[in-house]
Amino acid sequence: MQVQPLEDRYGRVASDLRVSLTDRCNLRCSYCMPAEGLDWLPGDEVLSDDEVVRLVRIGVERLGIKEIRFTGGEPLVRRGLVDIVRQVRALDPALELSITTNALGLARTAGALAEAGLNRINVSLDTVRADTFNTITRRDRLDDVVAGLAAAEAAGLGPIKVNAVLLRDVNDDQASELLRWCIDRGYELRFIEQMPLDAQHGWSRDGMITADEIFTRLERDFELTPAVEPRGSAPAELFLVDGGPATVGVIASVTRPFCGDCDRVRLTADGQVRNCLFARSESDLRAALRGGATDAELADRWVVAMRGKAAGHGIDDPTFLQPDRPMSAIGG
Ligand code: SAM
Repeated sequence: MQVQPLEDRYGRVASDLRVSLTDRCNLRCSYCMPAEGLDWLPGDEVLSDDEVVRLVRIGVERLGIKEIRFTGGEPLVRRGLVDIVRQVRALDPALELSITTNALGLARTAGALAEAGLNRINVSLDTVRADTFNTITRRDRLDDVVAGLAAAEAAGLGPIKVNAVLLRDVNDDQASELLRWCIDRGYELRFIEQMPLDAQHGWSRDGMITADEIFTRLERDFELTPAVEPRGSAPAELFLVDGGPATVGVIASVTRPFCGDCDRVRLTADGQVRNCLFARSESDLRAALRGGATDAELADRWVVAMRGKAAGHGIDDPTFLQPDRPMSAIGG
């Protein structure tokens, strides 16, 4: 089949698809969601398992998608996850398949996910102190996350990456402790700058912990040297810790944007294509799909949606407007 690349007006080609499987989550991280949760999408608006697999198949067969990351909300709360992974794996043995998860319940499902064809996982963990974990996530579940990480490793879902967000006066004093904990277990830690994507609109440029501050904190305890391998389209800048082989990554989406190298496209749980986390508009594949569109027509819509991708997310522009959907509803 002829592949139509998902190319935008600036020559960037998307080959990395982030698929949100649900907007629901079982944690309430303060920088993402209010304590009471959000108005979840009605069930009939969420793509069915078959609809997800069909759109992913179109992406893989017709649009040059090479890498798929399932996310949410929390992808592990999606009942059909293992079966979706199995069906997507059957599309192409060479696909890179991963999930981004908070790891709650992963201890039970890691083996089945690996057996279904998942390659690896990214786990979000901002602290290894139980009290700080409760403060950030508003849930007493640190032990479950730690058990989930261990189960993922035992199931061969490596290399395991851990994503952490540092919050001022909450866990910003724990950067080195978290890095040491990850290194001791062979997990690759990446710090993500906090972005204006929370439902409560509580983010501020002055309040966020910047990449420079993260380096200052880590360099009190570790020697960091830039990793030699080229970064390519990867969002994380990688550094060797104390000469390596352990590394630490910093994803400086706000202070050192990497939009020029972006190769990502997103599909929300309700079937909207988003060409950027910060896009102000979406393209409705679900309506077309349920209206009887052919694979070729859906692929054409997707190609058109990518043409409108902005050159950059513009967080630092005075005219910047936060997207209507929060991170949990887009798929982080
Ligand atoms: N529930 C899954 C998880 O915890 O990984 C997947 C969805 S979650 C929205 C994906 C990632 O987005 C997590 O690593 C989370 O820390 C991050 N995230 C959420 N809100 C964010 C924000 N405002 N700025 C930066 N990262 C954020």
